[in-house]
Amino acid sequence: KKITIAIDGFSSTGKSTLAKQIAKELGYIYVDTGAMYRAVTYFAMRHNFVSENHLDSEGLIKELPNITLQFHFNEEAEFAEMYLNEENIEIAIRTIEVSRLVSKVAEISEVRAKLVEQQQAMGKNKGIVMDGRDIGTVVFPDAELKLFMTASTETKAQRRFDELVEKGQHVTFEEVLQNVQERDYIDTHRDDSPLVKADDAIEIDNSHMTKKEQFELVMEMVSE
Ligand code: C5P
Repeated sequence: KKITIAIDGFSSTGKSTLAKQIAKELGYIYVDTGAMYRAVTYFAMRHNFVSENHLDSEGLIKELPNITLQFHFNEEAEFAEMYLNEENIEIAIRTIEVSRLVSKVAEISEVRAKLVEQQQAMGKNKGIVMDGRDIGTVVFPDAELKLFMTASTETKAQRRFDELVEKGQHVTFEEVLQNVQERDYIDTHRDDSPLVKADDAIEIDNSHMTKKEQFELVMEMVSE
C-alpha cells in the first residue's frame, strides 16, 4: 500500500538527497518544495519585488496568479526540474543570491497559501515523498511517515559549501555558514509556519551518518 512520506528539517541536512533515494527505491513521486519557494523568489527578483534591502510583498502578491510552477521529469538526470511559466529555471534557483532572499519571500502568507495548495493537490494520490519545512505539520498532517532531519551547523554549512563549489560557484565557507545560520533563524522564527518538528515526526540527526545509513534506516521504517 502506497503512503505519503513527509521529510522536514533545516537547510542542508540532506533532506532532498534522502528523499530522492527513497522515492526512486519505492517508485514514488518526489517533490522538492524548497524549489517552489526558490522559483517564486527568482520571479520576485526578476521583477524587482525583492532585493537585499527591499521587499514589495504587495506587488508580488498581485502577480501571484501569473506564476505557474511545474515539475518536468528530466529522463537523463532522473530528476524533476523546476519550471516557471514554461521556462526551465532549475539551475537559476540554486544560486546563493536566491538562497539569500528565499526566506523573506517564504514569509509572505499569500505565497505560502498558493504553494501549500499546489503541494496538497500533488499529493492527492499516495506514493509521494515531499521535502520541505512544513510538510508534516501543514501540508500533510496525516502523512503515514514523518521525518525531521537535523545536523550540526558546521556539518550543514560544509555540505552546502561542497555542493556550491561542485556547481562551480564562487563562494567562501564563511559566506555559506552565515547564510545557513540566517536561513535557519528566519525559518524557525516565521510567524505563520515556523519550522518545527511535528509531534509524530521521527527525528534523525545525521551529522555523523552516511547517506547509505540514512537510506537504510528510513527503508526499515517504511517496511514496518
Ligand atoms: O529546501 P531549500 O533549502 O531549497 O528551501 C529554500 C527555502 O525555502 C528555505 O530556507 C525556506 O525559507 C523556504 N521553504 C519553506 N517551506 C518549505 C520549503 C522551503 O518556507 N516547505
